[in-house]
Amino acid sequence: MEVWDDLRRGARAVVDEGRRLGEVARLKAQLALLEGRRQDRLADLGRAAMELQAQGTLQHEGLTAASSAVAAVDTELAALQAELAALTAEAPPATGRSCRGCGEPAAGGDRFCRQCGAPLQGDA
Ligand SMILES: [Zn+2]
Repeated sequence: MEVWDDLRRGARAVVDEGRRLGEVARLKAQLALLEGRRQDRLADLGRAAMELQAQGTLQHEGLTAASSAVAAVDTELAALQAELAALTAEAPPATGRSCRGCGEPAAGGDRFCRQCGAPLQGDA
């Protein structure tokens, strides 16, 4: 029966394609894993090289430039972290409202008390 042969061929093609896609996904995942591992090892290597350079054991023009670039990024990182810390440590703006249950001051958009969770009235 020609119809059955066609169906069987079609089914086999679908199975083969599924297998191929599965293999592609497996290889891509393995690639990503290895690339990540490579980046980690390169970072280790870079840290070791920077240490040797700082000790004066290793002198190389490219290494000096790379170390300065890392130091510049470190400075930017520290500034951003300080900015973030200042923002997150900031107390919520006072509104004059406070919780009727516990007296905790409420911030502008608060609908519930930050301290005890009680619902805040519009003019609590
Ligand atoms: Zn409260």
